[in-house]
Amino acid sequence: MRAPILQLTNVTKRFRGLVATDRVSLTVAAGSITSLIGPNGAGKSTIFNLVTGYLPLSEGEIRFHDERIDGKSTVALARRGIARAFQIAKPFPDISVHDNVRIGALFGRDGRRDVDQVTERALALTGLEDFADRPAGDLTVGFLRRLEIARAIAARPILLLADEPCAGLNPAETEEICDILRRIRARGTTVFLVEHDMEAVMRISDNIIVLDAGAKIAEGTPGEISANPAVIAAYLGTPDAA
Ligand code: ADP
Ligand code: MG
Repeated sequence: MRAPILQLTNVTKRFRGLVATDRVSLTVAAGSITSLIGPNGAGKSTIFNLVTGYLPLSEGEIRFHDERIDGKSTVALARRGIARAFQIAKPFPDISVHDNVRIGALFGRDGRRDVDQVTERALALTGLEDFADRPAGDLTVGFLRRLEIARAIAARPILLLADEPCAGLNPAETEEICDILRRIRARGTTVFLVEHDMEAVMRISDNIIVLDAGAKIAEGTPGEISANPAVIAAYLGTPDAA
């Protein structure tokens, strides 16, 4: 296995009495697409919120490369190269697709270096060149998802977290997002993915981590995960499986 870029050790998050994640340990290998799956309420978004500094941990530690990052702010983490693409994109609707992506580049890891070139590359990688001059508010949901990914990668992250990038998309749009994530991996950016679309997850993931009710229940390749009895039980036990 490749070197870990992200490492969580015994990460627990409590909301008052509720244990949202319970001593979760996991690693994301550099250069991989690693997916986090599990039924609703399993703790997936909580893990993303902890890794990106939106929430403080209750216990445990998080390392990025060799540095302990739990307790650091989202801004400090963005500077170190951790970016997040949200499911609900909130672009500036009245300005162009190009300028929305440019804003991502301006606030990226290397600050204001090569902003124009980085913007063009992010637009090309997400297939948005032909829409560059349109107001972002004109985009369909599938293209908004691409814009959100473009904005995030324009910050030149080392690690990109994508929270359900395929939610609500049709099969063709989903395949396009999968291709974009593969291109992001191919250029060396590690992808940490939460996604409900199991076919998409199985197609593009190098490694899959399964959470159920806040605890990690399995980890492995797509082949290993789809044959794992504990995973099958977790999914068949919920309406999600249908
Ligand atoms: P998932 O993304 O896997 O569906 P979440 O991480 O969103 O699950 O939620 C895990 C558990 O933590 C759920 O029971 C949820 O209701 C709870 N939870 C998540 N965020 C908060 C919060 N900010 N305050 C209180 N409870 C929360
Ligand atoms: Mg969630």
